[in-house]
Amino acid sequence: MGKPTGFLEYERELPKDRPAEERMKDWAEFHTHCDSKFLCKQAARCMNCGAPFCHTGDPVVGGCPLGNLIPEWNDLVYHGKIEEAYKRLSKTSNFPEFTGRVCPALCEGSCTAGLNGDAVTVKNIEVHIIDYMFENGKIQPRIPKFSTGKSVAVIGSGPSGLACADTLNQLGYKVTVFERSDRAGGLLMYGIPNMKLDKKVVQRRIDLLKKEGITFITNTEVGKNYPAAKVVNEFDALVLCCGATHPRDLQADGRNDVKGIHFAVDFLKANTKSLLDSELADKKYISAEGKDVIIVGGGDTGTDCVGTSIRHGCKSVTQLEIMPELPVSRTAANHWPQWPRIKKVDYGQEEAEFLYGKDPREYLTTVTKIVGDENGDIKEVHTVKVEWVSENGKMFPKPIKGTEKVMPCQLMLLAMGFTGPEDTLIKQLSLETDARSNIKAQYGKFETSLKGVFAAGDARRGQSLVVWAIHEGREAAKAVDEYLKR
Ligand SMILES: Cc1cc2nc3c(=O)[nH]c(=O)nc-3n(C[C@H](O)[C@H](O)[C@H](O)COP(=O)(O)OP(=O)(O)OC[C@H]3O[C@@H](n4cnc5c(N)ncnc54)[C@H](O)[C@@H]3O)c2cc1C
Ligand code: SF4
Repeated sequence: MGKPTGFLEYERELPKDRPAEERMKDWAEFHTHCDSKFLCKQAARCMNCGAPFCHTGDPVVGGCPLGNLIPEWNDLVYHGKIEEAYKRLSKTSNFPEFTGRVCPALCEGSCTAGLNGDAVTVKNIEVHIIDYMFENGKIQPRIPKFSTGKSVAVIGSGPSGLACADTLNQLGYKVTVFERSDRAGGLLMYGIPNMKLDKKVVQRRIDLLKKEGITFITNTEVGKNYPAAKVVNEFDALVLCCGATHPRDLQADGRNDVKGIHFAVDFLKANTKSLLDSELADKKYISAEGKDVIIVGGGDTGTDCVGTSIRHGCKSVTQLEIMPELPVSRTAANHWPQWPRIKKVDYGQEEAEFLYGKDPREYLTTVTKIVGDENGDIKEVHTVKVEWVSENGKMFPKPIKGTEKVMPCQLMLLAMGFTGPEDTLIKQLSLETDARSNIKAQYGKFETSLKGVFAAGDARRGQSLVVWAIHEGREAAKAVDEYLKR
């Protein structure tokens, strides 16, 4: 432990985000950096407790799915040994620059300091370590020292595909990553907006992986413009890291009769692509400028749509959520060290509150009807409040009479989650799926019903988090290594 009395002497503190008023005028990251003195104090708060749940990664207990050696690097950071801290961090994590920016910090939910106080700022310490290493030229390509002579294809270049490719490449395999988009990175590139994760940070890592010997083939959809069977024949093993990209749709009258309703990822992807291609000058994005925007879905993807709509200059923004508002602190049933299921005010809500004077979320609300104007463009959205009732052992949302409302709307965005992976590859390779339509592959083994074909990330576990995708990519790579060594 760096400083035995650190947690008694210092309060939890994070570097202040850029103020809403300033940051919503641009697309730059809203988090800021801190200096090493500030960081040293925060690292000193780690108690190096006997049973550090922060790195267990257990689905019930919580903690970091990567098993990051958090107390060890906190101690090293406290002593100013950032390079040593990085050595520990890189043992368990391929891309801390991604998780240090976008992870919900499962580790902090189970930090012992959080039992009756405030958790250590683990995520901020993590991002500082890796950013320091990059900024000081200390991350250089690691060219693998030997080759197994075997080749592996990875389909999809999101965090699971990148982690899988990186791990296999370092183990001496010749790795080729296929990606259907024009840029690699999956949802890191074309889902999470630039203000949360700068695309230069994603591209920097992809460029490094290329220098280390990984081949990226973009603009190529396996199963459409490159036959799946050909990939199976050409490579010694195949890992499907193609995400759970099938969006959940809205069931409401008029859903398919009007123009101006889009899935959240289509809206976010077009915006980032246009931003990267031309700083939005090509206008090849869905604009929210001057519009009343209604977002269906109160989660993180919905929040990204709020932040993006505000940067376009929308007239108003509302986020509809069918579930009730979460409590502000843990309930008795949701005790430490579980992940705290509490209300979060994220960057998008903060910005909406600054602009319009209120949180954009409306809870326990659903859409009943969508109405278009004479041109068929969306004009208004009819909503109703619901209460959750139990019938035959199942909970369902029951509309409450007299709570109907009509809201003006010229752009509706659907951020209601995903139902699983698309089925093109599943059908072509005749793969088994699980009850939730994900690719069936046992956790720990990662092999699908087809020999030599593996699956990892959202495609296997369903819609999840970047940290879980990286974990699965690493573990699937180890399973492939075992398979090819047989
Ligand atoms: C808008 C949004 C914001 C999010 N924000 C966060 C966040 O802040 N923090 C967090 O932890 N998680 C977040 N998530 C979740 C996180 O991004 C995902 O869990 C994670 O990216 C899953 O990684 P993956 O590698 O399994 O799949 P993906 O990132 O979805 O990557 C799959 C890739 O496979 C490609 N592909 C699919 N089929 C083929 C094919 N046949 N041939 C070639 N390529 C193919 C796709 O184009 C895609 O690039 C967010 C999700 C969304 C939608
Ligand atoms: S990856 Fe996430 S859970 Fe793991 S240490 Fe970093 S912030 Fe915590």
